[in-house]
Amino acid sequence: MLFFIEFVKMGKLYDRLAQDYRIKEGLKACISCGTCTAICPAAEFYRYNPKKIVTIVQSRDDDAILELLKSDTIWYCGECLSCVTRCPRKNAPGLVIMALRALSIETGCFAESEKGRQMLPLMHAMHQNVLNYGYCVYPKTFAYEKHPEYGTVGKWTQEHMEDVYERLGAHLGQVGPGALRKIPQESLDELKAIFDLTGATRWMEIVEEKSREKSAEMGLSMEEYEAQAFNQTSSCHLNTED
Ligand code: SF4
Ligand code: SF4
Repeated sequence: MLFFIEFVKMGKLYDRLAQDYRIKEGLKACISCGTCTAICPAAEFYRYNPKKIVTIVQSRDDDAILELLKSDTIWYCGECLSCVTRCPRKNAPGLVIMALRALSIETGCFAESEKGRQMLPLMHAMHQNVLNYGYCVYPKTFAYEKHPEYGTVGKWTQEHMEDVYERLGAHLGQVGPGALRKIPQESLDELKAIFDLTGATRWMEIVEEKSREKSAEMGLSMEEYEAQAFNQTSSCHLNTED
């Protein structure tokens, strides 16, 4: 993929990162104190250390940054920004990680990691819901079969959707006021315009294109690739160190 090769060949990953306002505002001078890691809830559960990520970005080492872009590591952050509240240097590791994620998508590197490949099913589930219905999670497209953790109550709720939402006072898919109401086409068009102007549409195209390329490399159909990305969770991610 041309944009990926060009980026890597040019060795300009740090320069590109440095243009991102999240790096400008989120990384001043890290003193490697580790406070961000100590407060980070993701570090409690994942093999994850925001201090190390900030240290790598601050080093401006393009090879190390490239490894980050291709790794699972940058996808563990929950974007809670707790780290921002405690950093003695007023850095924002969470913003630094958002910038890394953006660059990982733009370079196609996201497809090299298990967590990064989850972008495809996530995009199909949530972004399409936003564009088509105006909601991130929309009951009519929520597939219970894909979410067994939802339990039998979830299965029953889905099978009796219209009745349940009516009893809850929602206005599912109907014109007029109320929760889960039908969003007017004019508003959906505005959402699409926001996606276009902010670059989200381009990111979605990149995720689609790069995922197709990666699925071929892995010898999988797109359906198999997406199912694997959705279901696969290796044990290597968890912070189970004794
Ligand atoms: S808390 Fe701030 S200064 Fe300390 S390691 Fe994290 S980013 Fe660096
Ligand atoms: S924003 Fe990310 S890195 Fe910062 S505390 Fe939250 S999960 Fe950890």
